[in-house]
Amino acid sequence: MLATIALIGRPNVGKSTLFNRMIRSNKAITHDQPGVTRDRIYGLVRPRSGAQPFGLVDTGGLVPEGDGDFERDIMDQANEAMGEANAVLLVVDAREGLMPVDERVARDLRASGLPTLLVVNKVDGHEQESLTADFHALGMDMISVSASHGYGIHEMMDRVEKFLKDNSIESEEEAYDEEKQGLRIAMLGRPNAGKSSLINAVLGERRMIVSDKAGTTRDSVDVTFERQGKKYTFVDTAGVRRRTRITDSLEQFSIMKALKASQKAQVAVLVLDGTQTLSHQDKRLINFLDREKTPIIVAVNKTDLIPGRGELDKLKEHFTQELSIIKHAPVVYTSALTKAGLGGLLPLAEKIIKECSLRVGTGQLNRIMQAVIDRHQPPVVKRRRAKFYYLTQADTLPPTFVFFLNDSKLIPPSYARYLENQVRKLVGITMAPILIRFKGTH
Ligand code: GDP
Ligand code: GDP
Repeated sequence: MLATIALIGRPNVGKSTLFNRMIRSNKAITHDQPGVTRDRIYGLVRPRSGAQPFGLVDTGGLVPEGDGDFERDIMDQANEAMGEANAVLLVVDAREGLMPVDERVARDLRASGLPTLLVVNKVDGHEQESLTADFHALGMDMISVSASHGYGIHEMMDRVEKFLKDNSIESEEEAYDEEKQGLRIAMLGRPNAGKSSLINAVLGERRMIVSDKAGTTRDSVDVTFERQGKKYTFVDTAGVRRRTRITDSLEQFSIMKALKASQKAQVAVLVLDGTQTLSHQDKRLINFLDREKTPIIVAVNKTDLIPGRGELDKLKEHFTQELSIIKHAPVVYTSALTKAGLGGLLPLAEKIIKECSLRVGTGQLNRIMQAVIDRHQPPVVKRRRAKFYYLTQADTLPPTFVFFLNDSKLIPPSYARYLENQVRKLVGITMAPILIRFKGTH
């Protein structure tokens, strides 16, 4: 299971700056798709030490723009975090000093028993350490940083790791029994999109094996079943036991559950309600999955409620547009009610996983590189033109291709996109996420 830390604090103390810093600092791959809107509310932190990654949530981003009663908002964040997170980083602002709200939140957190580390932010250098003096009054383990300048960040990351360990909070790499579980699929999406109905529709009347793992989240169940001699598992599903009615704020937070489920699965099926437009939450989830290079299939569900061909075509146009940041992800139009579109789901999942594990030899890649460059020369940037040396595959899951060239700054986003599209086409990866990186010799 993925351990999760929540960032809590007043507005403007620097939570989102800190969040970005923590996500980025140790990320092995820092290539972001050009032109992709970033939404860094949920993220994975990969410790430098190589320890298991943990989830990070900037809860400030979860509280809807309210009536300005930020004290209540912070309490709401804290409450949500208590339900879902394993630990808290309470962020305060050294320049503003200790505020009464900080004291109240600290008191509540202490009462909750949730392990909390105090992060005094905006200490922009060693000489400003005296700004932390006030905060000792909170009687919490404390560390000072500058999220925007980077001061103290490495020390903080080490402290956070130790803090997690001391409190026995560890992400555990789950041992998956491939033989027993087969391909692991997570159904993700907003409440009421139709996840449970789709699972039930796929399972149908056939025999299924329900493995209810004791000790995991209350309502999450792994469902294993067989189709044409192959095993599949829907992970962390509430499809068997219905959830109770949940409040709006908790529904928002269930994205965190989605995050955890996507970590367990090999393929994510993002279920969207075809009768509604894409919500902010859906977009957040898409951004997250895209950033993490999770293989995705999109199921636009409830198509039985769309009257007529013309309306369905309009719907397809709408979703194609909305899903342009994950252009590669296949989209199926489904109905849990009539079972329309369901047949393609498992074969697509198989195909994506195959693509994700594809290995292409360097010989073939270099022929591809040559052909692609000959067809469309790199543009001249500041009177220079990129000179490519070779192309190699560095990794699978996701397939990662690295272009070695004289200077990576000579590749504008449009040309990077051209290269990605061509590589996809020529190696035959049409649906899986891929990573293209550029390495300059200087
Ligand atoms: P949030 O509302 O808690 O998420 O706060 P933000 O991350 O949006 O930061 C609020 C403001 O504080 C922004 O203008 C940041 O640039 C600034 N800020 C964040 N971290 C630091 C820091 O370490 N030092 C200084 N001087 N400013 C910071
Ligand atoms: P979940 O919260 O994402 O698991 O959504 P549910 O599977 O519980 O479905 C929410 C509601 O939508 C239920 O009332 C379902 O009967 C209904 N529903 C789900 N899929 C379909 C569908 O394909 N067509 C129609 N008409 N209703 C659906």
